[in-house]
Amino acid sequence: MVGVTAQPDRAGRLAAALERDGPTCVWCGRTFDRHVRPTTEHVVPRVRGGPSWAENEVAACSRCNAARGHRGAVEWLGECRARGWTPDAERVARALESLAAAVAVRGGQRRARPHLDAQLRRLRAG
Ligand SMILES: [Zn+2]
Repeated sequence: MVGVTAQPDRAGRLAAALERDGPTCVWCGRTFDRHVRPTTEHVVPRVRGGPSWAENEVAACSRCNAARGHRGAVEWLGECRARGWTPDAERVARALESLAAAVAVRGGQRRARPHLDAQLRRLRAG
């Protein structure tokens, strides 16, 4: 049953992320087109307990999504720069902060919390 409060499905959330953040890959900055396809990137990886919430999802091209694997977002930002890419660190920071705020309100996410907290500490330490 679909109500007005239902979460959008994955395609809907990806479309919303593109609308919110612009049509570029969070990691390499390339603009999406026929050849550079947007995929859903979880800022806190699902294997680390990251939820499929809009707050934890940004758009990344399929190349970067696969290249990152399960690495932490902040570590991976450094590696993107080392590769000569121009990652959107602000977008990552915004996602981590809004995910932390959403977890504080909704609760749960016990598996994701330690990783999320560590990422925020690293981010704030610069
Ligand atoms: Zn990319």
